[in-house]
Amino acid sequence: MDLSFAQVIAARPVVARHLAPTPLSSHPALDAAVGASVLVKHENEQPVGAFKVRGGLTLLAAMSEQDRARGTVSYSTGNHARSLAYASKVHGAPCTVVMPAAAAPAKAAAVAELGAEVVLHGPDLEAAQHHAEALAGRSGARLVSPGDTPELLAGVGTLYLEIFEAEPDLDAVLVPVGSGTGASAATVVARELAPSCAVIAVQSEASPAAHDSWRSGTLQRRPNRTRVDGLATGRGFALPQRIMAAGLADFLLVPDEAITAAQRLLSTTTGTIAEGAGAAALAGLLSAPARFRGKRVAVVCTGGNATEAERAELH
Ligand SMILES: *Cc1c(COP(=O)(O)O)cnc(C)c1O
Repeated sequence: MDLSFAQVIAARPVVARHLAPTPLSSHPALDAAVGASVLVKHENEQPVGAFKVRGGLTLLAAMSEQDRARGTVSYSTGNHARSLAYASKVHGAPCTVVMPAAAAPAKAAAVAELGAEVVLHGPDLEAAQHHAEALAGRSGARLVSPGDTPELLAGVGTLYLEIFEAEPDLDAVLVPVGSGTGASAATVVARELAPSCAVIAVQSEASPAAHDSWRSGTLQRRPNRTRVDGLATGRGFALPQRIMAAGLADFLLVPDEAITAAQRLLSTTTGTIAEGAGAAALAGLLSAPARFRGKRVAVVCTGGNATEAERAELH
């Protein structure tokens, strides 16, 4: 089995050592706007501002002392990097993150502030990945794939324990997808705790690799043009795709403009500042109003790291 419910349960005390459960809140103005009973899971309130920190902490805790001393190398433009840097700092482990040379300086700075070494390299994330592989090969550090790492899935799965233990009778939970760690873990937890809840993934139609991989049943490469960081992947990842193949009820694509509109609606009805990826689940909900009318659904606000420009547009 690629990810068991028991592995998620085992990750809970590891995560709880460092993180409090996040709120699962209803907001009457949002319910009225959507025409459904909507619970928002506020992962934007995590340290580093995103759910991925659950996975980073779980991974670092699972490594042997020798492996931790050699540290990790990864590649990312955003929250995966912050998560690993944060967890590495907590555990006193070295951490190197390779970012594309054109990565936003604010993002590189946020990772460097957590004590990680940031290496700017190449035109895109694929080039960054190859460089990270080379660095790991030389230093003996552990190369961490943002999608194909079981410990990351087990850790982020703890967020779905919190949702389904509080609300076992949900009709649906909507989860934004980049590589699919969150959505795949959601299916494993839902199967045990909320078998009648449909787990529905949402991705940007400008970067549909995970969606197209799921629909076709084979790993696909696709253009990666979304401006929504966190959903920006150009390929399907094998591990989450194997899990999602059996577990997902549906996979929705939404345009970037709809994600921006959902960000604005979250801000005006709940006061929540979400980054684009953090509002994508709500965008999925809004894309099919008849389907969700009168239903009880959860949307995961996966992150709150909106850029200055995004924040300026939210009012
Ligand atoms: C990484 C990320 C996602 C997508 O998660 P995956 O596990 O890669 O599918 C969604 N939202 C935010 C804020 C993220 O950082």
